[in-house]
Amino acid sequence: MTPKSIITAAMAFGATTAFAEPDREVSVTRASSQVATAGAPEYFTGSVKVQSRFQANAPARVGGGLVSFEPTARTVWHTHPLGQTLIVTEGAGLVQHWEGELQEIGPGDVVWIPPGVKHWHGATPDSGMSHIAIAESLDGKTVEWMEHVSDEQYGQKRGDVGE
Ligand code: MN
Repeated sequence: MTPKSIITAAMAFGATTAFAEPDREVSVTRASSQVATAGAPEYFTGSVKVQSRFQANAPARVGGGLVSFEPTARTVWHTHPLGQTLIVTEGAGLVQHWEGELQEIGPGDVVWIPPGVKHWHGATPDSGMSHIAIAESLDGKTVEWMEHVSDEQYGQKRGDVGE
């Protein structure tokens, strides 16, 4: 090798090692290494499972996970400081704005909840529902949890939906 080609090779090696740095790697978090967790009763009513959680490293701030609700299960009322996107993957669900708008949602539907809008989402009375939830954090927070959606509130909605 000439001195020039050695330098070139060293630079090429340097570039290769740069791609091996942890923050330059494409990472796959295997399903088998993940633990599904139950939705905390402070934040959910009924049986809810959260899996495939993700959180980008700063300066990116997107995070979320796959949330599965058994029939009648739902979040408490809450807001997201920078909004939230839901992508329904299976089942039949409901999303409701505090000011009354109730909408049924199903597989493939994409829901956008604007920043600061009080709402809940969950399953219908008769069907479970799973969605991918995606939200950006503001000052480290992605959500502000509020009061439970009472059975009475949910029951009223059930009537709205069923008729
Ligand atoms: Mn939400």
